[in-house]
Amino acid sequence: MSNTHTTIGVDSPHTTMLMHTTRCNIIGCNADLLLIVMRAISDVSWIMPRWCATIIIRYANAEPSDDAYLRVFPDPVTSSARIEIFDSFFAPDLSRIDRAALVAHELIHIHISMIMRWSRRIVERRIDGPSKDDALDELEERHEMVVVGLEQAFRVALERIIETEQ
Ligand SMILES: [Zn+2]
Repeated sequence: MSNTHTTIGVDSPHTTMLMHTTRCNIIGCNADLLLIVMRAISDVSWIMPRWCATIIIRYANAEPSDDAYLRVFPDPVTSSARIEIFDSFFAPDLSRIDRAALVAHELIHIHISMIMRWSRRIVERRIDGPSKDDALDELEERHEMVVVGLEQAFRVALERIIETEQ
């Protein structure tokens, strides 16, 4: 893992408000990959949660254990999040819109982490026995369904924005 830190400003006409609070640090990417990541982040910067002051993007430089392209670790307590990017994100068959939608998916997870963190804690404290695992599984499954639904809605918006721009 490289120690190079590159800080980019997220530049988009939609992010005037966000520009003041949102910083993205990209760690470990070479210049070619960095360009791909910067474009994807720039395309979805308007979706970033305003409470999330720092998003660290880390290139995992590895194959994921599942078929993930990206993985997110939101931390509402420190108003930050980490997104890990796997090699699959740079696959040549992915379009600009595909990559933007993948990043949007993780940003939606960051939005919902505000509720998810609290909900998990309530289930862990208030439900005992085998029902606890069932409730946590159900919560995770419904959470992912909401995120995927919103990602699809955002993808329609991204298609319109990116196609108008090109
Ligand atoms: Zn997800």
